[in-house]
Amino acid sequence: MSQTTTDFVPAEFDAHSWEVAEPLFAELQNRPVETAADFERWLLDRSELDAALSESAARRFINMTCDTSDKEKEAAYLHFVEHVSPKLKPASFELDKRQADLAEVHALPAERYAVLERDVRAGVEIYRDENVPLQTELAKLSQQYDATIGAMTVEFEGQERTLPQMGVYQESSDRDLRERAWRAVSDRRLADGEKISGLYDAMVERRHRMARNAGFENFVGYTFKAMGRFDYTPELCFAFHDAIERRVMPFVRRLDAKRRDELDVGGLRPWDLSVDPKGRDPLRPFQNGADLVARTRKVFERLDPRLAEMFATLGDGSNDQGIANGDLLDLDSRKGKAPGGYQYMQDRSRRPFIFMNAAGLHRDVETMVHEAGHAFHSMLCIDEPLVHYRHSPIEFAEVASMTMELLTMPYWDAYYPSEEDAARARRKQLEGSIGLLPWIATIDAFQHWVYTNPAHTREQRAQAWLGLDDRFGHAVDWSGLEAHRPFVWQRQGHLFGNPFYYIEYGIAQLGALGLWLKSLEEGEGPALAAYTKALSLGGSRPLPELFEAADLPFDFGDGTVARLVERVEAELEKLPE
Ligand SMILES: [Zn+2]
Repeated sequence: MSQTTTDFVPAEFDAHSWEVAEPLFAELQNRPVETAADFERWLLDRSELDAALSESAARRFINMTCDTSDKEKEAAYLHFVEHVSPKLKPASFELDKRQADLAEVHALPAERYAVLERDVRAGVEIYRDENVPLQTELAKLSQQYDATIGAMTVEFEGQERTLPQMGVYQESSDRDLRERAWRAVSDRRLADGEKISGLYDAMVERRHRMARNAGFENFVGYTFKAMGRFDYTPELCFAFHDAIERRVMPFVRRLDAKRRDELDVGGLRPWDLSVDPKGRDPLRPFQNGADLVARTRKVFERLDPRLAEMFATLGDGSNDQGIANGDLLDLDSRKGKAPGGYQYMQDRSRRPFIFMNAAGLHRDVETMVHEAGHAFHSMLCIDEPLVHYRHSPIEFAEVASMTMELLTMPYWDAYYPSEEDAARARRKQLEGSIGLLPWIATIDAFQHWVYTNPAHTREQRAQAWLGLDDRFGHAVDWSGLEAHRPFVWQRQGHLFGNPFYYIEYGIAQLGALGLWLKSLEEGEGPALAAYTKALSLGGSRPLPELFEAADLPFDFGDGTVARLVERVEAELEKLPE
């Protein structure tokens, strides 16, 4: 363990119950803090407690997701979520209040503590007792949304199938099959469309009320403060939307036209967007998890020795029995494993862990290098004493991961010995990096409209959505599907469970593309130097300074977007078809 730890939390600490954590909270709540030095010590001790609690949660989550069939692991995780976590939250908030008060009395150097203080103070300032029951109601509404979506199945090709299982048909080269699958799913969603609208109405009403209770005009200002968006404004989000409309949409429309021609269809329909336009089989970059790791190690060795060394410390990926000592990867898809992929930093032992469900597809390569980028971030700031600064805002954390998707591209021959396959994978990556931006703008602009017009009707909301789809949607022919189109927003779960959380990915994608552009213009060396320098800061600096350390403008307006789109399009031209 690093020397920057204190011995406030016992080495064997594990938060299996609230009772083991309670005395440590009480100590921090009651400890006399007479001087600035006392306060700094208090902050370090609190950081140790936070890290230990976070690791208790991480271990349980990791164990459970690696083996969902193990009832004991599931029970340990659920016990933590249902019985420990609800006690930790109010106790942590009491410590936040004390910390904010102590910061008023004992001035610490702003250079070091300003970010920490501002984050804690914002949470204390927006807190209102009367919002606690509203938050509980919102959590329940969010569960109802999840349950409604999760219960959706369709009868298709003689079998009952879940909606995620239906996704595979959208990649089929059989257009009629794609259409039937699309209609089956969309009809099923539409059947619950009004019910989900009702849940959303109730959420919007409560969120607006919470914001008013906390002294805000509406939920926009409240949520910007609650999410720690101190360094950008709604106006900058609007500038992002405008830039996407002006600079990205012409590019997307050209891609749509190309797709239409390659598919040889009169007009694109909603079921024509995911299939390979040339009707080829999926790319096959590797055999299994161990093979994926071996190939990825070669990629990082050629990209940067320092990153390669960090990647090597994670393990060789050959373990498929969950976590073994020193093995921080669990990659292969297998029965009993939870879906998805993630990087989870175990905050106390300071070891990253990467989980995924590799199935030998190109998206697994993307996930591998993406999550490796998150692990590099965790490892590069590992000696930072304050756990709060060992994590950074999503707007920058995703720069760390998305940049790796782009900077590794020149070495993808490690996955694709055939020049044609490598070019196809790079094309997909570059098109995707720009192609996601209009959807991000749509979701963000929709929420700005919803929460600045909280008294809207469902019909007005549908009109607002259709306007945004005209502005940012694909060139798709919706004729005969007019009933479906106004409900497409209901597929984006963030709108329900994580309001306003989405533009972060757009801001980060522009940062990642900026580092990629730097690597093309100045070489990989300077781009990687900027990357590692910025990642080493963790979350200790405000967002604009993290971007500055990475030699990136903290700007998501027209100039930045134009420069990036232009270069992506130029690089795509160079790739063999
Ligand atoms: Zn990520």
